[in-house]
Amino acid sequence: MNTGIYRHIDNLVTYALARNLLPGEEAIYATNLLLDQLHLDSYDGLFFRDPEIRRLSIEDPGQTLKQILGNLVSYAVSNGVVEDILPLKDVFDAKLMNTLTPRPKTVIDRFWADYKKSPEKATLEYFEFSQDTDYIRRYRLSQDLYWEGRTKYGNLQILISLSKPELDPKAIAAAGKAKATGYPKCALCMENEGYAGRVDFAARSNHRIIPLKLCSEDFSLQFSPYRYCHQHCIVLNHRHIPMIINESALDKLLQFVEMFPHYFLGSNADLPYVGGSVLSHEHFQGGVHRLPIMDAKVMKTYISRPELEVSTLFWPLSTIRVKGKDRREVLAQASRILRAWRDGYADPDSSIDPGSADDQHNTVTPLACREGSDFVMFLMLRNNKRTEERPVGMFHTHQDRFHIKKEGIGIIDAPGLAILPSRLKKELAVVKEVLLGKESMADHPEISKHSDWMAHLIEKHKIFHADTVDAILRDEVVQVFMLMLEDCGVFKHTPSGEESFDRFVRFALGDNT
Ligand SMILES: [Zn+2]
Repeated sequence: MNTGIYRHIDNLVTYALARNLLPGEEAIYATNLLLDQLHLDSYDGLFFRDPEIRRLSIEDPGQTLKQILGNLVSYAVSNGVVEDILPLKDVFDAKLMNTLTPRPKTVIDRFWADYKKSPEKATLEYFEFSQDTDYIRRYRLSQDLYWEGRTKYGNLQILISLSKPELDPKAIAAAGKAKATGYPKCALCMENEGYAGRVDFAARSNHRIIPLKLCSEDFSLQFSPYRYCHQHCIVLNHRHIPMIINESALDKLLQFVEMFPHYFLGSNADLPYVGGSVLSHEHFQGGVHRLPIMDAKVMKTYISRPELEVSTLFWPLSTIRVKGKDRREVLAQASRILRAWRDGYADPDSSIDPGSADDQHNTVTPLACREGSDFVMFLMLRNNKRTEERPVGMFHTHQDRFHIKKEGIGIIDAPGLAILPSRLKKELAVVKEVLLGKESMADHPEISKHSDWMAHLIEKHKIFHADTVDAILRDEVVQVFMLMLEDCGVFKHTPSGEESFDRFVRFALGDNT
């Protein structure tokens, strides 16, 4: 009899007890569920609680859980319980964690009981819980790279996210063969809660979500498994309905930050080519994080009353900030600006073409937060006009910056936190070696996309030293990110661009300025 597997099971139960996922009374019950998941019908009855595992579970939960689950998954693979393909192993270990995770109603009741004490406590406990259950896989996030760098707009932030694991060819082939089931309709649907997952669909057995109301509609709060910032959350409509940026969307953002004043909440634009990735399901993203735009300097103030302020900001994307104590007043002003822009605003001087009813170009990326008792709404103006020369958008990242990021500038990037693709971690390491003369460009075709940028760096910095090259590269990535944001700005920071911006704001506010 292989007693090794029993101790691995005991260790997982010990972890769950130490992290308060599981009450002591449920230890035998959970052990039996785990035996069943592993296709075992007997056990030596020891229920061994290793004090070292308990200590490690408290001090270093991510690595401890990674090790325990790793042992259980490799047993399952060797004994034919699960196939050796990453998404299927994720499905399997999420099921193991589900046996230790309280049911949704218990989680919901605990959240609102905590909320009565304070909104901060409720979201923090729920965030810790979402990591303890391994819905947010702590050990994958620990490899992310984060830094900041100065620009004329203030500090910008960079995150190279490694939380979405790269799939091996076997997994990609298996996903390609999988039959589309249409259930759940998308990754943001409510029906993901408890869904086991498939080779082509993320494992969500251990996922729990918190229902709430915004504008009398049913929404849910959940965290993003990929954590782009502290408590990075997603607020999703219970219905699979398309995104739309209108007065109601702005109202929902403001109502959310009224309920959770420590959060920001924003939305991707609702048109393709300007940053949204999932347009088919209404959702917002937020977090507990100071985004660079929140520290942007005011360019011009149009309304300045004790209870309300409307200003344009010195920010690469053309941004209007509405700030005030009364949520409804902030909503009214922000909605007026949104309508003025969205409903066909044109300005040939700045190449602003609003498109047609079938192909609307104007929209905004909105972001709400609190500053003390004030409600703050940032409206970043967007336009998705495409031309032959710029098939992915005139106000999209220019092609010569695609080597850093090709994807749209969405709700996290636009206010100053770049989410860069995982490939960059490896590529920048090679770029560094080439700049130091330790490697040859010819041996590394994977970095040829960076060759123009590298030529520019060599011309600018002449010579690179081992002790400064990392700092230079980090700073240069920040500079590219700044240019990407400027590319997306509809009114450029030129005298005529700023004049056009001023004309728009005065038009939008009518007689109110
Ligand atoms: Zn959906």
